[in-house]
Amino acid sequence: MLDEPRVVIVGAGPAGLVLAWLLHRARVPFVLVEQLTQAEVGTQPKAGIVEYRTVELLRREGMADAPGAPLRFDTENRRVEFRTPLTSHLFDYADLTGDRPHFVLPQHRLVAELAAALVIDGAPLHFSHRVVGIEAESPAVVVEGPDGGRRTLAPDVVVGTDGAASPVARAMADHVRTLDRRVPARWLVVATDTPPLVGHTIYGIHPHGYAAHLRRGPQETRFYLEVPATTGPDDWSHDTIRTELGHRLGMPGALDDRPLRSVDALDLRTRVTTPMQHGGLVLAGDAAHLITPAGGKGMNLAVADAVELAHGLIESHDGDDARLAAYSDTRLPAIWRAQAFSDWFLRILTARSADALEDESAAAFVHGTRETWVRALRDDAGMARWFAHSYAGVEPPAA
Ligand SMILES: Cc1cc2nc3c(=O)[nH]c(=O)nc-3n(C[C@H](O)[C@H](O)[C@H](O)COP(=O)(O)OP(=O)(O)OC[C@H]3O[C@@H](n4cnc5c(N)ncnc54)[C@H](O)[C@@H]3O)c2cc1C
Repeated sequence: MLDEPRVVIVGAGPAGLVLAWLLHRARVPFVLVEQLTQAEVGTQPKAGIVEYRTVELLRREGMADAPGAPLRFDTENRRVEFRTPLTSHLFDYADLTGDRPHFVLPQHRLVAELAAALVIDGAPLHFSHRVVGIEAESPAVVVEGPDGGRRTLAPDVVVGTDGAASPVARAMADHVRTLDRRVPARWLVVATDTPPLVGHTIYGIHPHGYAAHLRRGPQETRFYLEVPATTGPDDWSHDTIRTELGHRLGMPGALDDRPLRSVDALDLRTRVTTPMQHGGLVLAGDAAHLITPAGGKGMNLAVADAVELAHGLIESHDGDDARLAAYSDTRLPAIWRAQAFSDWFLRILTARSADALEDESAAAFVHGTRETWVRALRDDAGMARWFAHSYAGVEPPAA
Protein backbone atom coordinates (compact mmCIF):
# COMPACT_ATOMS: atom_id res chain seq x y z
CA MET A 1 0.00 0.00 0.00
CA LEU A 2 0.96 3.63 -0.24
CA ASP A 3 3.11 4.76 2.68
CA GLU A 4 3.02 8.41 3.79
CA PRO A 5 5.78 9.88 1.61
CA ARG A 6 7.60 13.20 1.56
CA VAL A 7 7.17 13.49 -2.22
CA VAL A 8 4.39 12.19 -4.48
CA ILE A 9 5.30 11.88 -8.16
CA VAL A 10 2.30 11.71 -10.53
CA GLY A 11 3.13 9.96 -13.82
CA ALA A 12 5.68 7.40 -15.00
CA GLY A 13 6.85 8.98 -18.25
CA PRO A 14 10.52 9.90 -18.77
CA ALA A 15 10.32 12.84 -16.32
CA GLY A 16 8.65 10.90 -13.50
CA LEU A 17 10.89 7.85 -13.82
CA VAL A 18 14.18 9.79 -13.98
CA LEU A 19 13.09 11.75 -10.90
CA ALA A 20 12.06 8.54 -9.13
CA TRP A 21 15.38 6.89 -9.92
CA LEU A 22 17.39 9.77 -8.44
CA LEU A 23 15.20 10.11 -5.31
CA HIS A 24 15.31 6.35 -4.78
CA ARG A 25 19.10 6.37 -4.98
CA ALA A 26 19.31 9.29 -2.52
CA ARG A 27 16.80 7.58 -0.15
CA VAL A 28 14.34 10.47 -0.21
CA PRO A 29 10.95 9.00 0.79
CA PHE A 30 8.57 9.20 -2.20
CA VAL A 31 5.87 7.31 -4.02
CA LEU A 32 5.11 7.39 -7.72
CA VAL A 33 1.56 6.82 -8.95
CA GLU A 34 0.80 6.02 -12.58
CA GLN A 35 -2.65 5.42 -14.05
CA LEU A 36 -1.46 2.87 -16.62
CA THR A 37 -0.11 -0.63 -16.00
CA GLN A 38 3.65 -1.16 -16.09
CA ALA A 39 3.28 -3.02 -19.41
CA GLU A 40 1.28 -0.13 -20.90
CA VAL A 41 3.79 2.63 -20.03
CA GLY A 42 6.46 0.66 -21.91
CA THR A 43 4.46 0.65 -25.13
CA GLN A 44 3.65 4.33 -25.75
CA PRO A 45 5.57 5.22 -28.95
CA LYS A 46 6.60 8.87 -28.84
CA ALA A 47 10.18 10.23 -28.92
CA GLY A 48 13.18 8.36 -30.25
CA ILE A 49 16.03 10.81 -30.73
CA VAL A 50 17.96 11.74 -27.59
CA GLU A 51 20.35 14.68 -27.46
CA TYR A 52 24.02 14.25 -26.65
CA ARG A 53 23.72 16.54 -23.59
CA THR A 54 20.84 14.45 -22.26
CA VAL A 55 22.92 11.29 -22.57
CA GLU A 56 25.87 13.03 -20.89
CA LEU A 57 23.57 14.12 -18.05
CA LEU A 58 22.24 10.57 -17.61
CA ARG A 59 25.79 9.20 -17.69
CA ARG A 60 26.90 11.72 -15.03
CA GLU A 61 23.99 10.63 -12.84
CA GLY A 62 25.02 6.98 -13.22
CA MET A 63 21.87 6.09 -15.16
CA ALA A 64 23.47 5.22 -18.52
CA ASP A 65 26.32 3.24 -20.04
CA ALA A 66 27.88 2.09 -16.75
CA PRO A 67 27.83 -1.27 -14.96
CA GLY A 68 24.40 -1.69 -13.35
CA ALA A 69 22.97 1.40 -15.10
CA PRO A 70 19.49 0.85 -16.58
CA LEU A 71 20.05 2.64 -19.91
CA ARG A 72 22.35 1.98 -22.89
CA PHE A 73 23.00 4.49 -25.65
CA ASP A 74 24.99 2.93 -28.46
CA THR A 75 23.33 3.99 -31.74
CA GLU A 76 24.28 7.45 -32.99
CA ASN A 77 22.47 9.70 -35.47
CA ARG A 78 24.99 12.21 -36.84
CA ARG A 79 23.42 13.60 -39.98
CA VAL A 80 20.18 15.05 -41.26
CA GLU A 81 19.25 15.42 -44.91
CA PHE A 82 16.95 18.14 -46.23
CA ARG A 83 15.19 17.30 -49.49
CA THR A 84 13.13 19.76 -51.50
CA PRO A 85 11.92 19.25 -55.08
CA LEU A 86 14.88 21.43 -56.20
CA THR A 87 17.74 20.52 -53.89
CA SER A 88 19.10 18.04 -51.38
CA HIS A 89 21.51 18.82 -48.58
CA LEU A 90 23.14 16.23 -46.30
CA PHE A 91 24.05 18.07 -43.12
CA ASP A 92 26.62 16.64 -40.69
CA TYR A 93 25.59 18.40 -37.48
CA ALA A 94 27.68 16.10 -35.27
CA ASP A 95 30.79 17.21 -37.13
CA LEU A 96 29.84 20.91 -36.88
CA THR A 97 29.32 20.66 -33.11
CA GLY A 98 32.63 19.01 -32.21
CA ASP A 99 31.25 15.45 -32.28
CA ARG A 100 27.86 15.80 -30.60
CA PRO A 101 25.46 13.42 -32.32
CA HIS A 102 21.99 12.37 -31.20
CA PHE A 103 21.39 8.84 -29.91
CA VAL A 104 18.58 6.63 -31.15
CA LEU A 105 16.55 5.13 -28.28
CA PRO A 106 12.76 4.87 -28.56
CA GLN A 107 11.01 6.50 -25.60
CA HIS A 108 8.90 3.41 -24.83
CA ARG A 109 12.09 1.39 -24.43
CA LEU A 110 13.69 4.04 -22.17
CA VAL A 111 10.53 4.08 -20.02
CA ALA A 112 10.28 0.26 -19.92
CA GLU A 113 13.94 -0.10 -18.88
CA LEU A 114 13.75 2.54 -16.14
CA ALA A 115 10.47 1.19 -14.75
CA ALA A 116 11.80 -2.37 -14.70
CA ALA A 117 15.05 -1.32 -12.93
CA LEU A 118 13.12 0.59 -10.26
CA VAL A 119 10.60 -2.20 -9.65
CA ILE A 120 13.35 -4.82 -9.37
CA ASP A 121 15.09 -2.58 -6.80
CA GLY A 122 11.91 -2.35 -4.73
CA ALA A 123 11.16 1.34 -5.42
CA PRO A 124 7.61 2.47 -4.48
CA LEU A 125 6.07 2.62 -7.97
CA HIS A 126 2.28 2.13 -8.00
CA PHE A 127 0.93 1.36 -11.47
CA SER A 128 -2.83 1.30 -12.18
CA HIS A 129 -3.21 4.11 -9.57
CA ARG A 130 -4.80 7.33 -10.79
CA VAL A 131 -4.80 10.76 -9.19
CA VAL A 132 -8.43 11.89 -9.12
CA GLY A 133 -8.18 15.00 -6.94
CA ILE A 134 -5.58 17.55 -5.84
CA GLU A 135 -5.70 20.11 -3.08
CA ALA A 136 -3.25 22.85 -4.05
CA GLU A 137 -2.70 24.57 -0.73
CA SER A 138 -1.99 21.67 1.69
CA PRO A 139 -0.89 19.98 -0.72
CA ALA A 140 -2.82 16.69 -0.90
CA VAL A 141 -3.68 14.19 -3.61
CA VAL A 142 -6.53 11.69 -3.83
CA VAL A 143 -5.37 8.45 -5.45
CA GLU A 144 -7.72 5.77 -6.81
CA GLY A 145 -6.41 2.21 -6.89
CA PRO A 146 -7.30 -0.58 -9.32
CA ASP A 147 -10.11 -1.79 -7.01
CA GLY A 148 -11.73 1.69 -6.99
CA GLY A 149 -10.63 2.37 -3.40
CA ARG A 150 -9.44 5.92 -2.67
CA ARG A 151 -6.71 7.18 -0.39
CA THR A 152 -5.59 10.76 0.35
CA LEU A 153 -1.88 11.46 0.62
CA ALA A 154 -0.52 14.64 2.20
CA PRO A 155 3.17 14.93 1.24
CA ASP A 156 5.37 18.04 1.42
CA VAL A 157 5.65 18.16 -2.37
CA VAL A 158 3.47 16.89 -5.24
CA VAL A 159 5.34 16.69 -8.54
CA GLY A 160 3.27 16.70 -11.71
CA THR A 161 5.10 14.65 -14.31
CA ASP A 162 1.68 13.76 -15.62
CA GLY A 163 2.00 14.92 -19.21
CA ALA A 164 0.07 17.23 -21.52
CA ALA A 165 -3.30 16.98 -19.72
CA SER A 166 -1.67 17.32 -16.28
CA PRO A 167 -4.18 17.34 -13.37
CA VAL A 168 -1.40 18.83 -11.19
CA ALA A 169 -0.98 21.76 -13.62
CA ARG A 170 -4.75 22.30 -13.59
CA ALA A 171 -4.74 22.43 -9.78
CA MET A 172 -2.24 25.32 -9.78
CA ALA A 173 -3.77 27.18 -12.76
CA ASP A 174 -5.00 30.11 -10.64
CA HIS A 175 -1.49 30.84 -9.38
CA VAL A 176 0.60 30.60 -12.59
CA ARG A 177 0.43 31.80 -16.21
CA THR A 178 -0.15 29.21 -18.92
CA LEU A 179 0.93 30.47 -22.34
CA ASP A 180 -0.76 28.15 -24.80
CA ARG A 181 -0.85 28.07 -28.62
CA ARG A 182 -2.37 25.63 -31.07
CA VAL A 183 -0.36 25.33 -34.29
CA PRO A 184 -2.58 24.97 -37.38
CA ALA A 185 -0.96 21.73 -38.52
CA ARG A 186 -1.68 18.02 -38.21
CA TRP A 187 0.84 15.25 -38.81
CA LEU A 188 0.20 11.59 -39.37
CA VAL A 189 2.60 9.60 -37.18
CA VAL A 190 3.44 6.44 -39.12
CA ALA A 191 5.29 3.53 -37.49
CA THR A 192 6.76 0.58 -39.39
CA ASP A 193 8.60 -2.54 -38.20
CA THR A 194 11.03 -2.26 -41.10
CA PRO A 195 14.66 -1.07 -41.28
CA PRO A 196 15.35 2.63 -41.98
CA LEU A 197 15.68 3.57 -45.66
CA VAL A 198 19.06 5.23 -44.93
CA GLY A 199 21.27 5.67 -41.84
CA HIS A 200 20.19 9.23 -41.05
CA THR A 201 17.16 11.51 -40.56
CA ILE A 202 15.49 12.89 -43.71
CA TYR A 203 13.23 15.94 -43.74
CA GLY A 204 11.13 16.33 -46.90
CA ILE A 205 10.39 20.04 -47.46
CA HIS A 206 7.71 19.74 -50.13
CA PRO A 207 4.95 22.09 -51.37
CA HIS A 208 2.40 19.34 -50.52
CA GLY A 209 3.64 19.47 -46.92
CA TYR A 210 6.24 18.06 -44.58
CA ALA A 211 7.43 14.45 -44.51
CA ALA A 212 10.10 12.88 -42.30
CA HIS A 213 12.05 9.65 -42.07
CA LEU A 214 13.44 8.93 -38.57
CA ARG A 215 15.38 5.96 -37.29
CA ARG A 216 14.00 4.17 -34.26
CA GLY A 217 16.04 0.93 -34.32
CA PRO A 218 17.46 -1.68 -36.70
CA GLN A 219 13.94 -2.94 -37.49
CA GLU A 220 11.88 0.14 -36.65
CA THR A 221 11.31 3.36 -38.59
CA ARG A 222 9.07 6.36 -37.90
CA PHE A 223 7.62 8.60 -40.62
CA TYR A 224 5.69 11.86 -40.35
CA LEU A 225 3.31 13.16 -43.00
CA GLU A 226 1.77 16.62 -42.76
CA VAL A 227 -1.92 16.53 -43.72
CA PRO A 228 -4.77 19.07 -43.71
CA ALA A 229 -6.20 19.40 -40.19
CA THR A 230 -9.63 18.47 -41.60
CA THR A 231 -8.40 14.93 -42.41
CA GLY A 232 -7.28 12.04 -40.16
CA PRO A 233 -5.87 8.50 -40.44
CA ASP A 234 -9.18 7.13 -41.77
CA ASP A 235 -9.01 9.46 -44.77
CA TRP A 236 -5.59 8.19 -45.82
CA SER A 237 -5.19 4.63 -47.14
CA HIS A 238 -1.87 2.94 -46.40
CA ASP A 239 -1.13 2.93 -50.15
CA THR A 240 -1.68 6.69 -50.42
CA ILE A 241 0.48 7.31 -47.33
CA ARG A 242 3.32 5.20 -48.77
CA THR A 243 3.11 6.96 -52.15
CA GLU A 244 2.96 10.44 -50.65
CA LEU A 245 5.83 9.80 -48.23
CA GLY A 246 8.01 8.45 -51.07
CA HIS A 247 7.15 11.47 -53.19
CA ARG A 248 7.84 14.12 -50.53
CA LEU A 249 11.01 12.39 -49.32
CA GLY A 250 12.35 12.32 -52.89
CA MET A 251 12.40 8.48 -52.87
CA PRO A 252 9.42 7.48 -55.04
CA GLY A 253 8.41 3.86 -54.52
CA ALA A 254 10.84 3.35 -51.60
CA LEU A 255 8.05 2.46 -49.17
CA ASP A 256 5.90 0.42 -51.55
CA ASP A 257 6.51 -2.99 -49.96
CA ARG A 258 6.58 -1.75 -46.33
CA PRO A 259 3.63 -2.66 -44.10
CA LEU A 260 2.59 0.22 -41.80
CA ARG A 261 2.22 -0.93 -38.18
CA SER A 262 0.23 2.11 -37.02
CA VAL A 263 -0.97 5.49 -38.25
CA ASP A 264 -2.02 8.13 -35.68
CA ALA A 265 -2.90 11.81 -35.92
CA LEU A 266 -0.90 14.40 -34.01
CA ASP A 267 -2.21 17.96 -33.58
CA LEU A 268 0.63 20.30 -32.84
CA ARG A 269 0.54 22.42 -29.72
CA THR A 270 2.94 24.58 -27.72
CA ARG A 271 2.69 25.71 -24.11
CA VAL A 272 4.82 27.15 -21.33
CA THR A 273 3.66 27.35 -17.70
CA THR A 274 5.41 30.04 -15.73
CA PRO A 275 6.46 29.65 -13.01
CA MET A 276 6.59 25.85 -12.94
CA GLN A 277 5.91 25.65 -9.21
CA HIS A 278 3.51 27.02 -6.61
CA GLY A 279 3.82 26.17 -2.92
CA GLY A 280 4.10 22.41 -2.65
CA LEU A 281 3.11 21.74 -6.28
CA VAL A 282 5.85 21.45 -8.90
CA LEU A 283 5.68 20.58 -12.62
CA ALA A 284 8.23 18.86 -14.86
CA GLY A 285 8.25 17.69 -18.49
CA ASP A 286 5.16 17.98 -20.69
CA ALA A 287 3.05 18.91 -17.65
CA ALA A 288 5.02 22.17 -17.50
CA HIS A 289 5.65 22.81 -21.20
CA LEU A 290 4.56 21.36 -24.51
CA ILE A 291 6.67 21.64 -27.61
CA THR A 292 6.00 20.29 -31.10
CA PRO A 293 8.18 17.37 -32.24
CA ALA A 294 10.01 19.76 -34.63
CA GLY A 295 13.62 19.43 -33.52
CA GLY A 296 12.91 16.56 -31.06
CA LYS A 297 13.23 18.54 -27.80
CA GLY A 298 10.32 17.43 -25.54
CA MET A 299 11.74 14.33 -23.89
CA ASN A 300 15.13 16.00 -23.56
CA LEU A 301 13.58 18.91 -21.66
CA ALA A 302 11.62 16.44 -19.50
CA VAL A 303 14.80 14.61 -18.47
CA ALA A 304 16.70 17.85 -17.75
CA ASP A 305 13.78 19.15 -15.63
CA ALA A 306 13.71 15.89 -13.68
CA VAL A 307 17.43 15.92 -12.91
CA GLU A 308 17.39 19.55 -11.72
CA LEU A 309 14.26 18.97 -9.64
CA ALA A 310 15.71 15.79 -8.12
CA HIS A 311 18.74 17.72 -6.87
CA GLY A 312 16.46 20.44 -5.47
CA LEU A 313 14.37 17.85 -3.59
CA ILE A 314 17.43 15.98 -2.33
CA GLU A 315 19.04 19.20 -1.01
CA SER A 316 15.72 20.23 0.51
CA HIS A 317 15.49 16.83 2.23
CA ASP A 318 18.94 17.61 3.69
CA GLY A 319 17.66 20.97 4.99
CA ASP A 320 18.57 23.44 2.19
CA ASP A 321 15.55 24.67 0.17
CA ALA A 322 17.39 27.18 -2.06
CA ARG A 323 17.81 24.98 -5.14
CA LEU A 324 14.22 23.72 -5.01
CA ALA A 325 12.92 27.29 -4.66
CA ALA A 326 14.95 28.33 -7.73
CA TYR A 327 13.93 25.31 -9.85
CA SER A 328 11.56 27.15 -12.19
CA ASP A 329 13.94 30.10 -12.71
CA THR A 330 16.79 27.68 -13.37
CA ARG A 331 14.91 25.69 -16.02
CA LEU A 332 12.83 28.31 -17.88
CA PRO A 333 15.66 29.90 -19.97
CA ALA A 334 16.58 26.52 -21.51
CA ILE A 335 12.89 25.74 -22.07
CA TRP A 336 12.36 29.04 -23.91
CA ARG A 337 15.51 28.47 -26.01
CA ALA A 338 14.14 25.09 -27.11
CA GLN A 339 10.71 26.60 -27.83
CA ALA A 340 12.24 29.40 -29.91
CA PHE A 341 14.32 26.98 -31.99
CA SER A 342 11.45 24.53 -32.48
CA ASP A 343 9.08 27.36 -33.47
CA TRP A 344 11.56 28.56 -36.13
CA PHE A 345 12.27 25.04 -37.38
CA LEU A 346 8.56 24.27 -37.68
CA ARG A 347 8.26 27.14 -40.19
CA ILE A 348 10.74 25.38 -42.46
CA LEU A 349 9.20 21.96 -42.04
CA THR A 350 5.51 22.73 -42.33
CA ALA A 351 3.73 23.96 -45.47
CA ARG A 352 0.47 24.91 -43.78
CA SER A 353 1.24 28.01 -41.79
CA ALA A 354 -1.88 29.96 -40.81
CA ASP A 355 -2.03 32.16 -43.93
CA ALA A 356 -1.29 29.34 -46.39
CA LEU A 357 -4.25 27.17 -45.47
CA GLU A 358 -6.53 28.28 -48.32
CA ASP A 359 -4.64 30.77 -50.44
CA GLU A 360 -2.52 29.33 -53.26
CA SER A 361 -0.28 32.37 -53.68
CA ALA A 362 0.36 32.52 -49.89
CA ALA A 363 1.19 28.80 -49.98
CA ALA A 364 3.72 29.38 -52.79
CA PHE A 365 5.22 32.28 -50.79
CA VAL A 366 5.59 30.05 -47.72
CA HIS A 367 7.26 27.35 -49.79
CA GLY A 368 9.66 29.94 -51.26
CA THR A 369 10.83 30.84 -47.75
CA ARG A 370 11.26 27.13 -46.86
CA GLU A 371 13.44 26.50 -49.92
CA THR A 372 15.49 29.60 -49.13
CA TRP A 373 16.17 28.48 -45.54
CA VAL A 374 17.40 25.09 -46.80
CA ARG A 375 19.75 26.84 -49.25
CA ALA A 376 20.99 29.07 -46.42
CA LEU A 377 21.80 26.00 -44.32
CA ARG A 378 23.75 24.63 -47.29
CA ASP A 379 25.57 27.83 -48.31
CA ASP A 380 25.97 30.01 -45.21
CA ALA A 381 28.55 28.68 -42.75
CA GLY A 382 27.33 30.94 -39.91
CA MET A 383 23.75 29.82 -40.37
CA ALA A 384 24.81 26.15 -40.60
CA ARG A 385 26.78 26.43 -37.37
CA TRP A 386 23.88 28.04 -35.49
CA PHE A 387 21.46 25.40 -36.73
CA ALA A 388 23.80 22.51 -35.86
CA HIS A 389 24.28 23.76 -32.30
CA SER A 390 20.57 24.45 -31.72
CA TYR A 391 19.47 21.16 -33.30
CA ALA A 392 22.03 19.04 -31.45
CA GLY A 393 21.22 20.92 -28.24
CA VAL A 394 24.59 22.40 -27.39
CA GLU A 395 24.24 24.83 -24.46
CA PRO A 396 25.39 28.39 -25.24
CA PRO A 397 28.47 29.46 -23.23
CA ALA A 398 27.61 30.82 -19.77
CA ALA A 399 27.38 34.66 -19.80
C1 LIG B 1 4.82 11.68 -31.97
C2 LIG B 1 5.77 12.29 -30.98
C3 LIG B 1 7.14 12.30 -31.26
C4 LIG B 1 8.04 12.86 -30.37
N1 LIG B 1 9.39 12.87 -30.68
C5 LIG B 1 10.29 13.37 -29.80
C6 LIG B 1 11.73 13.26 -30.02
O1 LIG B 1 12.18 12.70 -31.02
N2 LIG B 1 12.55 13.78 -29.07
C7 LIG B 1 12.08 14.34 -27.93
O2 LIG B 1 12.88 14.78 -27.10
N3 LIG B 1 10.74 14.43 -27.67
C8 LIG B 1 9.83 13.96 -28.57
N4 LIG B 1 8.48 13.98 -28.28
C9 LIG B 1 8.01 14.56 -27.00
C10 LIG B 1 8.11 13.56 -25.84
O3 LIG B 1 7.49 12.34 -26.19
C11 LIG B 1 7.46 14.15 -24.59
O4 LIG B 1 8.03 15.41 -24.37
C12 LIG B 1 7.67 13.24 -23.37
O5 LIG B 1 6.78 12.14 -23.41
C13 LIG B 1 7.42 14.00 -22.06
O6 LIG B 1 7.60 13.10 -20.98
P1 LIG B 1 6.83 13.33 -19.61
O7 LIG B 1 7.40 12.34 -18.67
O8 LIG B 1 6.83 14.75 -19.26
O9 LIG B 1 5.28 12.99 -19.92
P2 LIG B 1 4.57 11.69 -20.49
O10 LIG B 1 5.52 10.85 -21.27
O11 LIG B 1 3.34 12.18 -21.20
O12 LIG B 1 4.14 10.86 -19.20
C14 LIG B 1 3.07 11.30 -18.36
C15 LIG B 1 2.55 10.10 -17.57
O13 LIG B 1 1.61 10.55 -16.60
C16 LIG B 1 0.55 9.63 -16.51
N5 LIG B 1 -0.64 10.31 -15.94
C17 LIG B 1 -1.36 11.31 -16.51
N6 LIG B 1 -2.39 11.65 -15.73
C18 LIG B 1 -2.31 10.86 -14.62
C19 LIG B 1 -3.12 10.75 -13.43
N7 LIG B 1 -4.21 11.51 -13.23
N8 LIG B 1 -2.74 9.83 -12.49
C20 LIG B 1 -1.66 9.03 -12.67
N9 LIG B 1 -0.88 9.09 -13.79
C21 LIG B 1 -1.20 10.00 -14.75
C22 LIG B 1 0.36 9.18 -17.95
O14 LIG B 1 -0.33 7.94 -18.05
C23 LIG B 1 1.80 9.08 -18.45
O15 LIG B 1 2.35 7.79 -18.28
C24 LIG B 1 7.56 13.43 -29.16
C25 LIG B 1 6.19 13.40 -28.86
C26 LIG B 1 5.30 12.84 -29.76
C27 LIG B 1 3.82 12.81 -29.42
